[in-house]
Amino acid sequence: MSLAGRRIAITGAGRGIGLAIARAASGGGAHVALGDLDEETAGAAAGSLPNAHAFALDVRDRDSFSAFLDGATDAMGGLDVLVNNAGIMLIGPFATQSIEDVERMLDINVVGVANGVQLAIPIFERGGRGHIVNIASSAGRVAVRGGAAYSASKFAVRALSAALREELRGTGIELSAVLPGIVKTELADGIKEVRGAKSATPEDVAAAVVRVIERPRPETTVPRELTAVMWLLDTLPARLRVRALRAMGAHDSFWESDDAARAAYEARARGFDPALRG
Ligand code: NAP
Repeated sequence: MSLAGRRIAITGAGRGIGLAIARAASGGGAHVALGDLDEETAGAAAGSLPNAHAFALDVRDRDSFSAFLDGATDAMGGLDVLVNNAGIMLIGPFATQSIEDVERMLDINVVGVANGVQLAIPIFERGGRGHIVNIASSAGRVAVRGGAAYSASKFAVRALSAALREELRGTGIELSAVLPGIVKTELADGIKEVRGAKSATPEDVAAAVVRVIERPRPETTVPRELTAVMWLLDTLPARLRVRALRAMGAHDSFWESDDAARAAYEARARGFDPALRG
């Protein structure tokens, strides 16, 4: 499927990876609908792109998601692709992590994707084809200390994607999952570098998403070099895997993150709700 003329809805597209996907897709001639919690950021982003429309969206809220997809379909004259990108990352020792943080992450990262998938499928069924791209994470393949709840949410997105792909086989609806490693956005502020796993840029992820839209694939890791690392880690018995993760520094990347450097991001991810600040 060539990108030109495709009608693509992207969640969490006001900044970061979602915005880079919107830029790359609209640059390739696609029509894009940007949905974001922060309508102002999404509006400003859409204003700078050709064939772009902005919508307020809270992926946790079924009615809001439904209104986003209806608005996007009307504005673009149809819908070919939904990119479930919106997500947050709140990290720290799980035993003392606030349950509000855990719930918020599961709500946005998992229920948000479930809402998107269940609402897009009937739209795609009516047209006889469509494509769902779920942005998971390498943390959905390898879990390290400090990232228990975030990893749980991304393992869930991968599991949901793998099972659903089989349910959709033969329907004309494709499902692809994209697993970025560490990407230079505010979400990754203060995270320690991991040896052997070069950080990607939002543009690297966007380029991979564009390739996946053109040619659906079950799972794509970004950067590509990380694929072999993930595969190798998967083959190791648990104790050796932890040793390898220690040697790479991945064991400490969340655990020893810089709290001060993460404070602004985490306040935003918590929705600036004082009750959720822990
Ligand atoms: P980001 O820069 O913080 O962007 C996330 C976007 O999602 C923001 O625009 C945010 O809106 C929006 N959002 C948050 N909650 C939402 C909700 N309930 N409904 C609608 N939109 C919402 O983060 P990012 O790094 O681009 O992350 C995008 C995706 O990639 C996430 O799923 C993340 O887990 C995944 N990922 C990121 C990395 C990484 O290292 N950065 C690695 C692997 C996977 P506001 O601006 O209003 O907060």
